[in-house]
Amino acid sequence: MKAILDHVGIAVKDLGAALAFYRDALGLEIEAPEEVASQRVRAHFLPVGEAKLELLEATAPDSPIAKYTEKRGAGLHHITLRVDDISAALAQLKARGARIIDEQPRPGAEHSLVAFIHPSSAHGVLVELKQSSTISHQSSAISHQTLAISRYPLGDLELISVSDGFIRLDGGAMFGIVPKVLWEKQAPADLSNRITLAMRPLIVRGARTMLIDAGVGGKDSAKFQEIYGIDRARSLEVTMAEAGVAPEDIDIVLATHLHFDHAGGFTYRDAGGRLRPTFPRAQYIVRRGEWEDATHTHARNRASYLADNFVPLAEAGVLQLVDEDATIMPGVRVRRTGGHTMHHQMVVIESKGKTAAYVADLIPTTAHLPDPWIMGFDLYPVDTLTAKQRFVKEAIERDLLVLFEHDPTIAAGYIREQAGKRHIAPVHG
Ligand SMILES: [Zn+2]
Ligand SMILES: [Zn+2]
Repeated sequence: MKAILDHVGIAVKDLGAALAFYRDALGLEIEAPEEVASQRVRAHFLPVGEAKLELLEATAPDSPIAKYTEKRGAGLHHITLRVDDISAALAQLKARGARIIDEQPRPGAEHSLVAFIHPSSAHGVLVELKQSSTISHQSSAISHQTLAISRYPLGDLELISVSDGFIRLDGGAMFGIVPKVLWEKQAPADLSNRITLAMRPLIVRGARTMLIDAGVGGKDSAKFQEIYGIDRARSLEVTMAEAGVAPEDIDIVLATHLHFDHAGGFTYRDAGGRLRPTFPRAQYIVRRGEWEDATHTHARNRASYLADNFVPLAEAGVLQLVDEDATIMPGVRVRRTGGHTMHHQMVVIESKGKTAAYVADLIPTTAHLPDPWIMGFDLYPVDTLTAKQRFVKEAIERDLLVLFEHDPTIAAGYIREQAGKRHIAPVHG
């Protein structure tokens, strides 16, 4: 095994004082901080030659770093060794009796995979193994910042755009017949030809509290997360908490369709390994045709439908199937679009003469506004075309607020058309 020193982690209690030494007195450069929400920690990297120092600052009292400094004071926290194949490295260590903290590598910062080795096996030092991602950095416009929650008042209702982080999908598959020379200007690809997409579920607060779609969720294996470049630093748990909405507050969960990037968060695995509905009080509403397709897959759609995301809902008795376009709660109506899947539906939300549309995979990103920009994933692309043309016309005529579930930078806007070219006008406070 070849291992290279990547960085040395130092737990700090007083960031200002630490910077006065490492940055000011030593004169080291400091990079923009990185927030690891799940660990409640902010990391400040200072390059020192090939390796870096990492100053770790707790962002909450229950952060592991806060607990560490409370117990042992500030100081050396871990060292990180970079390896080519983290799974092979873990297997080799395990075979030699080393005590591993993370049996499975998990996603770390910048799309890396990481795993910790227990200090008892490393002579008192916490050792982190890291396998860097082979993917390049994308346009800096896409950052966790673009997944800040946004609130849109709509008559008597409130819409809250939350997120479940980012996913990477093949750029060619995302744009169907459109050549890469055209789409890569809109959505730069990484070295594996993947583009970054957001997952933006929507909370509707009105007579009841509804959640539309729930992102990919946190049940998937490290391998799955690596294939799809999943980055859940801005997960549904985190962003719902920021929005002040608890899982118990959700009365209704509505599915546009059951693909894993929309339905993954519907269930979670409890400590005993059992799959349970994530929202304990909610009724889950799914279109019957979509349910039938998701539970009777074929070779062309099988990879998108993972039974763990929805079958437990039926088992828990919280599933409600809807046969046709219907009002789900006052002001919220589903409308079948077809195209992407036979029974894919969008959601139209109306209150006091104002209308918004959550279009899901009918127009996944603002790059998909032109008619022929249709996903290769779509099972019935010509139906997508018809539904999109009809919807875009309506959206322009009625000045609909359009919410884009997968756009990496734009949560919502108004569709405008000038000389046959469509663009998005931003939402003003
Ligand atoms: Zn889909
Ligand atoms: Zn999707």
